[in-house]
Amino acid sequence: MANRKPLIAGNWKCNLNHLEAIALVQKIAFALPAKYFDKVDVTVIPPFTDIRSVQTVVDGDKLLVTYGAQDLSEHDSGAHTGEISGAFLAKLGCTFVVVGHSERRTLHAETDEVVLGKTKAALRHGLTPIVCIGEGLDVREAGEHVAYNVAQLTGSLAGLSADEIAKVVIAYEPVWAIGTGRVASAADAQEVCAAIRSTLAELADATVAASVRVLYGGSVSSKNVGEIVGQTDVDGALVGGASLKSDEFATLSAIA
Ligand code: PEP
Repeated sequence: MANRKPLIAGNWKCNLNHLEAIALVQKIAFALPAKYFDKVDVTVIPPFTDIRSVQTVVDGDKLLVTYGAQDLSEHDSGAHTGEISGAFLAKLGCTFVVVGHSERRTLHAETDEVVLGKTKAALRHGLTPIVCIGEGLDVREAGEHVAYNVAQLTGSLAGLSADEIAKVVIAYEPVWAIGTGRVASAADAQEVCAAIRSTLAELADATVAASVRVLYGGSVSSKNVGEIVGQTDVDGALVGGASLKSDEFATLSAIA
């Protein structure tokens, strides 16, 4: 994986109130001694309403775990009821923000254009966007998954400069593997992640492509993370279900 430091990001989705969030982040930190953070970056991605509580614990206890948000608005402020600005997330000390998760793309009709707008908003505020792409089962079974992911990546980063692309993280999350227990094989993950890196070289340049972290997501657990993250072009994992269990999340982070 060249010199890229692995990143394990725990996407809590719409789970845990702010008290439960405090308990989980404390348990993760307890289960993951400081020495592990030399070799892996670990971040938690709670619901918006938990972020302030997580910030208090992380800052108060000087934890090495970082945190982020699951989404953000394309807009920085104004008449956008219900939206959360990147400026607010930055003020709360977020490091990362997930954009274009398949649940947003599918359930909230987010197009590549919207994902691009959110990616730009994240970059404007110094947040690291974790840009998600991934094919559905129909595309995979038709054997069109590489072209599909290349197109989704290209659309989601369209017009960004090489300097901007250098600041993103990409997450390849095949939709058929998310929350299903059906994990992609390590070879499947490597195939698409390698295509992502080649595309990054075309959109930016070879140096940027070699530096950007490309994660795999989809039913990652302590049982499969080692083999997946051991692939040349896979630099970590975006983890859903397994990130809600402190011991499991700490164990898989330590393996990565
Ligand atoms: C996700 O939510 O991004 C995800 C990969 O979920 P899970 O690990 O549960 O498949």
